[in-house]
Amino acid sequence: MQIGNRFRAYPTPAQESILLQWIGHQRFIYNAKVSEDRYYRTFAQKAVSLSGTAVPIDQEYARFIGENTPWLREVPSQILRNGAVRWKQSYTRFYAGLSRRPVFQRKDGRQSVWITSELFSFRYDEKTHTEELVLGTKKFPVGVLSFTAHTPYSRPASLHVSVEAGKWYVSFSSDDGQAEPKEEDTIAWLRMFTEEELRSKTVGFDRGVVTPVMASDGGRIDFSSIQKIRMEKKERSRRRWQRTLSRQQKGSQNRKKTRQRLARTFEYTKDVRKDVIHKATHAIAEGSDRSLFVVEDLRVKNMTKKPEPKKDASGNFLRNGARAKAGLNRSILSSCWGLFVLFLSYKARRNGKLVIKVPPQFSSQECAHCGHIHPDNRPSQAEFVCQRCGLTDNADQNASRVIAQRGIRLLLEGSIQKKRVRRCGIGKEKQPGPERSEVKASGEEHKTQRPKRLRASSAKEEHPLVRSETPPAAQSA
Ligand SMILES: [Zn+2]
Repeated sequence: MQIGNRFRAYPTPAQESILLQWIGHQRFIYNAKVSEDRYYRTFAQKAVSLSGTAVPIDQEYARFIGENTPWLREVPSQILRNGAVRWKQSYTRFYAGLSRRPVFQRKDGRQSVWITSELFSFRYDEKTHTEELVLGTKKFPVGVLSFTAHTPYSRPASLHVSVEAGKWYVSFSSDDGQAEPKEEDTIAWLRMFTEEELRSKTVGFDRGVVTPVMASDGGRIDFSSIQKIRMEKKERSRRRWQRTLSRQQKGSQNRKKTRQRLARTFEYTKDVRKDVIHKATHAIAEGSDRSLFVVEDLRVKNMTKKPEPKKDASGNFLRNGARAKAGLNRSILSSCWGLFVLFLSYKARRNGKLVIKVPPQFSSQECAHCGHIHPDNRPSQAEFVCQRCGLTDNADQNASRVIAQRGIRLLLEGSIQKKRVRRCGIGKEKQPGPERSEVKASGEEHKTQRPKRLRASSAKEEHPLVRSETPPAAQSA
């Protein structure tokens, strides 16, 4: 089974400057490929019959090293080549309908460089009984990059070195040598049980606003009070730094420093959120008695979308509720539902367990005991009182039970289908999409090249309401 590893790294100041140079040069090649492609698509391609030049989608980069860019030779050529390969890989993903066209990589935020095996090696140090990561070549030495491996790993063929808010990381995927249980087998195994038996094997999860996650077996995932206080403090300082930043001159050194500080204010909340969810999902997935986990199929992206701007007849902007939504967005995002589902899914899969998604409609108004659905069942945000059978419960608790039952029903009905894993053939020579040169130069090529949307093409194979969960392996953590 492939497992994504991300370890904290501690480069020396000298190593930092070399790695930053590698990052910058690789980004330069990537962005050069992006801008060249844009040029071809807007101009050269339209006149291909005249110029006779086909639009290149290749991994060549030598043409970017010229009189104006002699500094590109200051890094190993593999760094530059990997920039071109990265670009081609994202183009392949685009052709496979998995992503949009490659866009310019930004100079701020998380930065990374992809390093292949020519430029690094692992060696075992007999004295300290630790493994060392040696970076660089004879001509371009970097030395031993120290890192903390908090978990066992196997030596990879390539790795990423990244930096975010001043912290460095080494990440790669490694094989733990164990076979991954197949999802079909898990589904078949669970179907052998009766509804009654399944009830004791199932947990439903509901996303609350007060409590981030509520489980039908009474468990809950929440932050500790001290974490909440600290997160709020960071939120206040984030706002303060953002105000400072808005007043500073663009491109100035002070603005750069403020950016760093601002980035650091996000760190704490992010770390706490990940930590809490990792620990909770680990406990849930490793626990012995439950094997079926049911969650609502919520599309967090849609729920957190900005409202469209509204204009009146004379073109002035009207209130569109963006501010109110912004508050709601923050609480949805900070309730970390997406992370929870993602982490739980891969940990469950590893343990031969199953996560299924069920339609979320009216789960908060349905009675877990008799199935009566009515808005009156919710006299307040926190309580649930069934108007037919009189069941009284905590509203989130009731909803999570409803969700668990929906999951069991769907499993027994047999309407869960394995989501087809789409791979784009990275690392293989075969290209699934049409080659650029094959596409005729006409006004139509735009349509023929655009890949079908992922959702539209896979909709036929899937049940419209249920998608069993198979997230992409966490390769680039
Ligand atoms: Zn009822």
